[in-house]
Order: sequence, then C-alpha cells, then structure tokens
Amino acid sequence: MGRFQIRRECIDGVCSGKGECMGAYVMGIDVGGTKIACGLFDDKKNLVAQRRCPSDPALEPEAFFDGLIRELRSLLEAQGLAPEELRGIGLGLPSFILFDQGYIVKTSNLVKLRNFPAKAYLMEKFPAIPIVLDNDAHVAALAENRFGAGRGFKNMLYCPISTGIATGIIINGKLFRGTYGWAGETGHMIATPGEGLVCGCGNQGCFMSWCSGSMIIKHIRNWIAQGEKTLMTGLAGDVEHIDCTHLEAAYDRGDPLAIRALDQMARYLGQWFFNLYMTFNIDCFVLGGGLLKMGDKLLGPVRRNFDVYNRNDMPVYFKPAELADRFGMIGAAELIFDEYGSMA
Ligand SMILES: [Zn+2]
Repeated sequence: MGRFQIRRECIDGVCSGKGECMGAYVMGIDVGGTKIACGLFDDKKNLVAQRRCPSDPALEPEAFFDGLIRELRSLLEAQGLAPEELRGIGLGLPSFILFDQGYIVKTSNLVKLRNFPAKAYLMEKFPAIPIVLDNDAHVAALAENRFGAGRGFKNMLYCPISTGIATGIIINGKLFRGTYGWAGETGHMIATPGEGLVCGCGNQGCFMSWCSGSMIIKHIRNWIAQGEKTLMTGLAGDVEHIDCTHLEAAYDRGDPLAIRALDQMARYLGQWFFNLYMTFNIDCFVLGGGLLKMGDKLLGPVRRNFDVYNRNDMPVYFKPAELADRFGMIGAAELIFDEYGSMA
C-alpha cells in the first residue's frame, strides 16, 4: 500500500507534517436527506468501492454520525483496509456549514443536524485523519466542473433544482465559499418581500418559496384548499400525498392547476437564473436535482423566461449534470484531494 509525502503542513496540526501520515485512499461521503453514500477512492481518484444506507432524520447528531462511522468502518473492513490508510475523509452535507470549523449550523431536511461541531466529533473518532466538511451544492459543483457537464468551463454555476434550489459557484476553476461558508444559498434571495409563503429559511417570498419542488406542492395544496379542482388529488389518492410526480402526470393531461404550477416555477426559476447571470456573468449553468426529470416541460419555459430578460446574444449554456448519483461522493473526495494532493 503506497504512502505519500505530505504536500504541506496539515491544516489542523493533527499530523506531524513529517510525511508519514498520508494514506493512499480517500473516503468521499455524500449525506442526503434520505440516504448516505460512502465512496472509497484510490490515489488516482478511481472509485474502488461504495456503500449506501438510509439516513434517519429522527436521529440526534451524535447518533447520526455514529451510524455514518459504522458504515465507513465496515466499507474499509470489507476492503481489508485500516482507517490509518485513509488520506482523509470528505463529507458533503445539505447544511449551512461554517467551513473553517466544520461546524453544522443548520440542515433544512435533517432538522436535528444543527448547532453541531461535526468535524470535531469525527476527529475524536479518527484523530490522525484529515476531515473536511462542505455543503452538498459546493461539492457537486466541484465534481461537475472537473468530471461532468462543466468540464472545460473555468467559470460555472451548479444549480440543483429539487426539494430546494441552490448554487455552487466555481470561479477560475475554484470553488467560492464566501466568508463563512454558505456562498450560493441563492434560493433564499428575496423575490417578493412580504408576499408569498414563508420558507424554511424563515423569510417570506424567497425564490425557493415560489419554485422549489417542496414549496410548489405547498402552493398547490393552498389552491386546492381555496376550492380549485385538479386531477392531482385523484392521482395521489388525497391532497396530502400529492408530489411532483403527480404534478407532472396532471400537466401531461392538460390539468389547468398543474399548468399554473409549472408556469409559476418557470417564471421564478427564469428570474433566478437571470439574476445569477447578472451577478456573476458566468456562461455555464449545470443543472442537477430531481425536477430535471421533467425535461423540456420545465426547462423549455425556464430558458424562454431567461431569454426574455437577457437582452444580449453572447452564448449562455444550460447543461444537465452528468455524474448522476455519484457527484456527491466524487465532490466530497475532491475536498481531500484538493487539500492533500493526489497521483491523478
Ligand atoms: Zn428561503
């Protein structure tokens, strides 16, 4: 098993900096609202083994991370590796993270993961191994920029359109995190002050509150409560079970409420993309997230709305993400390769 010279002083001071602490493997962990995926990468960035398990939103942070550590250890054992053979552990989480401290401030879809010193907790269990935590849109942006749809673009925005909407910002080939670590939480930019639904961020009328997957379903339920009729109720069985698959199915059948919902999403997403374009003047948007499955039904009108605002004919590319469900593990591993080097 190869060991490699350390490339610079360990940022945490946990290693001697004399060269013997660098393992040959990197663990990239993708923590999502419904599942955790652990990927083991060799020094040439090849994914050599992976393991997936459900994530349990009911767990307190310590129990949540204990479960994650068990998965990680059993993946290593199955490969005949000891934790000391890891160069580092990178984690992407759907959280606001104080990047320098690896501290989880809050997590919208795992609400118990808040105010938790995750990096310190993991370092107690793996004292000699570098650990880096970052936001999931950030790690996805790294992965898509280097290995996916954003290859060759020195500036790129990765935009998941899913339960929530967000942005991972790549400038001159580097991830931009901002001062505290949550650059790119653009879904919470305010679109309609004092108007619309209250979002999980606590504000009323942010972009996400108008057009994310979870929020559009809230709008639909409100319209139904106001007496609107829709095929979605029958398709789902009842109002409480309506989700975006029913929205799409009803849209395909010409259901007026479904058409209204998609129009609203496309209007606010187009406006959101245009505002991002005006802020960054970045020509490549890589789009990820579950709602992309709607394809041109959603993205066609989004692009048309963007083009209405964009009074300039320089090229702007909207590209679907390419790394499917591997981007989280790949980007999380990149956090370590960036800090501690690779042989790739
Ligand atoms: Zn918000």
